[in-house]
Amino acid sequence: MKVSGDPIVSAICHCDDCRAGGRMIEALPHAAPVRDAYGGSPYLTYRDDRFAIVQGSELLTGIKLSDTAPTTRYVASCCNSGMYLKHRPGWWVSTYRLRFTGDLPPVTMRNKVKPGTEAPADIPVHNGFPFGLIGRLLAARIAMLFG
Ligand SMILES: [Zn+2]
Repeated sequence: MKVSGDPIVSAICHCDDCRAGGRMIEALPHAAPVRDAYGGSPYLTYRDDRFAIVQGSELLTGIKLSDTAPTTRYVASCCNSGMYLKHRPGWWVSTYRLRFTGDLPPVTMRNKVKPGTEAPADIPVHNGFPFGLIGRLLAARIAMLFG
């Protein structure tokens, strides 16, 4: 995976789909984790035009929670590592943060955290998707129209 520029957002998602998808991936043989210690999936989310698969695309296998699910999670079939997910028809790609090393953008929030879930409060914890996140996705779409 090759990404360029800053992510639209760097956040941890606790929604039911991300939890179920993360469990499916982590249940594969020798799979590396995609979720953190609290069951959330940390993502670095990039614009479609700032994300590319530069090698090994033939090894990627798509996993869906159901035939009609809008989201496909891609796993590298050689090592069963969860790489990224694509939500159709979104204009963004959410890459699994745990696949990256080095200096990463700080995580800014946890989203869709169910009440009663144990999660550290060092970053904002939201029960839904906050308006700020939706605003950033919309702003990214507008920026894409202008190159
Ligand atoms: Zn989610």
